[in-house]
Amino acid sequence: MSVLKPLLIDQLPDTWDLPIGPRFRRKQLSDWVFKKRANSFEAMTNLPEQWRKCLCEKYRIKSIELLRKQGSKDTTRKYLWKLAEGDYVESVLIPASPALYGDKADRFTLCVSSQVGCAYGCKFCASGLEGWKRNLSAGEIVSQIMETEKESAERISNLVFMGMGEPMANFENLMLAIDMINSDWGLNIGARKITISTSGLVPKIRALADQERQIRLAISLHGASDNVRDSIMPINRKYPISKLLEACSYFCSKKKQMITFEYILIKGINDHFDQAALLAKKLKGIRSKINLIPYNKVAGLPWERPEKSHSQEFAHILARGGIKATLRLEKGHDIDAACGQLRLKEIS
Ligand code: SAH
Ligand code: SF4
Repeated sequence: MSVLKPLLIDQLPDTWDLPIGPRFRRKQLSDWVFKKRANSFEAMTNLPEQWRKCLCEKYRIKSIELLRKQGSKDTTRKYLWKLAEGDYVESVLIPASPALYGDKADRFTLCVSSQVGCAYGCKFCASGLEGWKRNLSAGEIVSQIMETEKESAERISNLVFMGMGEPMANFENLMLAIDMINSDWGLNIGARKITISTSGLVPKIRALADQERQIRLAISLHGASDNVRDSIMPINRKYPISKLLEACSYFCSKKKQMITFEYILIKGINDHFDQAALLAKKLKGIRSKINLIPYNKVAGLPWERPEKSHSQEFAHILARGGIKATLRLEKGHDIDAACGQLRLKEIS
């Protein structure tokens, strides 16, 4: 049955009334969609005409349209997509070279969006500025990858759900999309190459731990005490740090995996050294590493990043506390494609 899943590209479950065919027909269909990348159902010449007709009537192969492509000096590329309903989202392609100055990139990470806007309203983030509009369908999520591959002529090797939106708040479509992305009949991107980032939806972290795939998890932490986290991330009032870290421990032990904690450093807000010391204490015993990200300026928001030396000292305190921390090299800053810079407003 699973080979029918490619048809999840933008359908409603109750429209699954394709002619019932043998398994090999479904395999032919998924090959056309994911392997041969057919542009139309008419092109699927080895399928019976009845199938093609039925597919044309009920499904779309492609659910997004490229509107604009921007390249950054550091080779990061940002794609703006128009969705069928007239909404817009972005994806960011981040090539990585084997060596710092290597010539050809061998890894292509795509940062994908999961929602139009975001309901969680973190105070520092561009994506949440205008609120939430709607969830992306599984097809719209998968199409970002397939269309980026077409546009860039590169094969996406890694995926991060760190674009616009809170992926865990669109859990059902996210899981349908991951089925298409991870399965061998689909895009065949390994589960360990897929990272979901969340601001901390505790029940969904547990649900992700309970499903079978070895997807990676990143947590947007950004504060070590509830006081600090409450002040910048409203979700913390619902799921405070203690509950969040309990769910993280559950994930680690269930999946035998390490978690990545993202910590943006915002000057004067969450970059006090006592937060670093507290963080080291609280993360003891959770298999994890911390990515420290100097805050990216967002137009209209007052926040700033700390001095480099301050960020480095923050990292040192964590290291002295026994926590692996890296100060992240930010990419795509000049085209507003860096973390938290994706927003609806600049599109219109
Ligand atoms: N909603 C999910 C996925 C979006 S990921 C989440 O919050 O995890 C976007 C990442 O960029 C998150 O880690 C977010 O906290 C971070 N971010 C948001 N605004 C930022 C900014 N201005 N500078 C740097 N990082 C930012
Ligand atoms: Fe939404 Fe994540 Fe931005 Fe918070 S950081 S507003 S959860 S996209």
